[in-house]
Amino acid sequence: MKKHNFNAGPCVLPREAVESAIEAIRDFDGTGIGLLEISHRTPGWERVMAETEQLWRDLLGIPDNYAVLFLGGGASTQFFELPANIMKSKAAYLQTGVWAKKAVKEAKFYGDVEVVASSEDKNYTYIPKGYKIPTDVDYFHITTNNTIYGTEIHTDMDSPVTLVADMSSDIMSRPVDVKKYGVIYGGAQKNVGPAGVTFVIVRKDLLGSSGRKLQTMVDYSTHIGAEARDNSMFNTPPVFPIFVMHETLKWVKNLGGLEAMYKINKKKADLLYGEIDRNPLFVGTAAKEDRSLMNVCFVMAPGKEALEAEFMDFAKSQGMVGIKGHRSVGGFRASIYNACPIESVEALVKCMQEFEQKHK
Ligand code: PMP
Repeated sequence: MKKHNFNAGPCVLPREAVESAIEAIRDFDGTGIGLLEISHRTPGWERVMAETEQLWRDLLGIPDNYAVLFLGGGASTQFFELPANIMKSKAAYLQTGVWAKKAVKEAKFYGDVEVVASSEDKNYTYIPKGYKIPTDVDYFHITTNNTIYGTEIHTDMDSPVTLVADMSSDIMSRPVDVKKYGVIYGGAQKNVGPAGVTFVIVRKDLLGSSGRKLQTMVDYSTHIGAEARDNSMFNTPPVFPIFVMHETLKWVKNLGGLEAMYKINKKKADLLYGEIDRNPLFVGTAAKEDRSLMNVCFVMAPGKEALEAEFMDFAKSQGMVGIKGHRSVGGFRASIYNACPIESVEALVKCMQEFEQKHK
């Protein structure tokens, strides 16, 4: 039976990217040696590194005064590496979920942290509004998509101080005005590849701005300048995830780039939220205006809670994978990232409709 993969990350990847990764593992770039066995200083690999950076720049329109880094350690490492690099004494954070909360915890190792607003009071089901961004801070940190709760900040906000964003789960899902941000970072394992590589887009004037003496690997500058030699490789980069990222971004580019990607994502999300709102058995958990285009969270409607396990079994029997909600929200979460085909969303909608018929 065809499986429909709604995992929250790692998650479904474009088939083309997976197929070319399989081929490259056998034979990288016609060298007769597999991708996992080459030296990262071979010219073929240096070309992949340079092209991957160029794909980032082309797709997001990243200006020249920004560096693009591919690091290890996941977004969780950026929770401390970021303040180490750019926090002098104080930063402000918007707390829209547990990932944001974890980022707050790590930033506190480096100075004062002001949580300007939090939606913890309602289990992070909305994005706080009407707060004021303080001006006496080194930066303001947001999480643009809250993977667990299915909320998203849909626009690039204006900030009186350097804006920093964890875009782990919605990067490359829509065009972004990079100029509005000082730093954008995230783990690759949703829209841009498999787990194992972390992207950091940093405005170069922020390098060294904390004034702090940093360990070599923690210092963003290490991965950019002469130290990094060619193509941002100070040390061995995560070759395999970067290769899959390269193929994944080529796929996005071939689809027409981020405007086209956004239209497809909007169509998929509208389809699924439309069914959640229509179907009397289900309700969405996130505030409507803040609904994520990437992670669609829903539960059984009031009075229908007893049907939850039965729907889960039914959905599984129809090939749905990974739709169990995060334990802190319950119910269901369908992650419909870039590479999730619309056919999978249609299959889930059909499954919800058939379940409704069974319970008429
Ligand atoms: N931020 C967000 C928004 C996430 O969804 C996640 C992981 N799901 C993380 C941070 C942590 O990322 P990593 O596992 O790469 O450390």
